[in-house]
Amino acid sequence: MNFAVGYVRNDQHDPGEMHVERVYRVDAAIKGVESLGLGSDLIVADTISVSLEDLYLVHPKEYIDKLTNVSTSGGAWADEYEETWIGESSTLAAMNAAGTSVEVMSILRESKAVNYGFSIIRPPGHHAGPRYPMGFCLLNNIGIVARKLSTLGEKVMIIDIDVHHGNGTQDIFWDDSNVVYLSIHQNGLYPGTGKLTEIGGENAILKTLNIPLEAGSAGNVFRMILESIISPTILRESPTWILVSAGFDSHFKDPLGGFELSSRDYFNFANELRQSAGRDTKMLYVLEGGYDLSAIKDSTSASILGLLDGSFNLENETYSEAGTKDVKNAKSYFGF
Ligand SMILES: [Zn+2]
Repeated sequence: MNFAVGYVRNDQHDPGEMHVERVYRVDAAIKGVESLGLGSDLIVADTISVSLEDLYLVHPKEYIDKLTNVSTSGGAWADEYEETWIGESSTLAAMNAAGTSVEVMSILRESKAVNYGFSIIRPPGHHAGPRYPMGFCLLNNIGIVARKLSTLGEKVMIIDIDVHHGNGTQDIFWDDSNVVYLSIHQNGLYPGTGKLTEIGGENAILKTLNIPLEAGSAGNVFRMILESIISPTILRESPTWILVSAGFDSHFKDPLGGFELSSRDYFNFANELRQSAGRDTKMLYVLEGGYDLSAIKDSTSASILGLLDGSFNLENETYSEAGTKDVKNAKSYFGF
C-alpha cells in the first residue's frame, strides 16, 4: 500500500549542541522509514516553502514579519530560558517544515490510492500560537494543514499524542467549530495548559478535548482513551481527515516526558486509530517532539506499520494503573 512522506532536516536551524531539538531527530525518524523497505510504495514529497496565503491562514502577517526581522538581524532566543531559537535561517527553515507538511497533505488529497502519510519535519509546531513562538516551535505546522483542509471543506480532527500539551494548536482552534482538537498529555508538565476544563470557546464548546494524565501512564491507558473517548468523538464528529501531532516523547525512553509508551504501543495506537477512523478517512502524522533517537526511530516505523496494517513485534505493550482514573474522569466529563 502506498504511503506518503515528507522529510525536512533543516540542519541550518541549529539551536546549539546543548539543545535537545536537533537535526539528528529527523535523521532517526528517516532511518525508521528506511528500515521498512517500502520501495516504490513510498511517495516522497518535495521539500517546499509554505505559501504566504497558507501561512496567513493561521499566523498574521505582523507575526511573520517579526520572525523575519529577528532572522535578518542575526537571530535571537525567543525567550529568557533559551528554549526557542530563531536564527538567521530559522524563519525560512520553519516555512519549509510547514510547506512540506502541506505538500504531503496535498499528495493524500489528490490521490485515491494514498490514504496515509507522515510529515517528518523540524522545528516542531504544536506550541506555536498564532502570534507567538514557544517551546522550540516557530510555526504551527499541523495547524496550517488543518486550517487549509478546513477551508477546502474537509472536517478535521487533530489528535495530539505528544507528552506535552499543544497549547499553540489549542489557541489557534479555540473558537473554531470546524476543527476538533484532542490532546493526551502529562498533567502538570510544560507548558502547564490543557486542563480537563479547557473545552473551547463559546462558539466551539467541546471541540477542544483535553485528557491530562498522571506521570507513569502507559499503553493500556492510550488504548482506553481510543476506545472510550476518541472512537465516540469520531462517531460524533465524522471527520474526513485525522491529523496526528506525533510526539515520540511519550515513549518510556524519552528524557523529557514521564509516560511509559513503547514503540509497540505507538504501533497499536496508529493501527486502532486507523480502524476507528474508517477506510474513507485520510490520516496524516506530523512530527512534534521526541528526544531519544532510538525511540524516535522505532516509534516512526511502528506508527507507519500501524497505519499500513502491517505487523510489529519490537518491544512489549505496556500497562499501568496510573492514568486509568484520569480517563474515567475525562470520559464522564465529556458526556460519553
Ligand atoms: Zn513534547
